[in-house]
Amino acid sequence: MGSGNGGREPRLQPVTRFGPGRRNRSPPAREEAHAMSPRTIIRSVRWTVRPDEEAGAPKAPLYHAECTTCHDTSETSEGDRIGPELWALFHVGKNPSHRSFRAISTAFWRVTPADADGVADPATS
Ligand SMILES: [Zn+2]
Repeated sequence: MGSGNGGREPRLQPVTRFGPGRRNRSPPAREEAHAMSPRTIIRSVRWTVRPDEEAGAPKAPLYHAECTTCHDTSETSEGDRIGPELWALFHVGKNPSHRSFRAISTAFWRVTPADADGVADPATS
């Protein structure tokens, strides 16, 4: 007889395998765990941090100074802080109330796999 919905079959509701209506909340069986994509596995790799000695990297730390009153800055000096220190002294000479400076040193590091044979560098853009 008529089902009251115009003769159409009742719609089936999608079933979520581990959805909220699941009665058994134990972990998935071993076979189900193996059904996961192998792309979800991440290899563990040790990395090291060391001074960057690649071509183009500065061979020594970079130094410069900044006046904390007017934010004027010195030239940047590679491996020698004498230039920024002299700049600070001359800056005080011209601006006697500017007596506080921020000394900034910058070093460059490179992070590489500890076992370089095991990990290829990814392509860079
Ligand atoms: Zn200043």
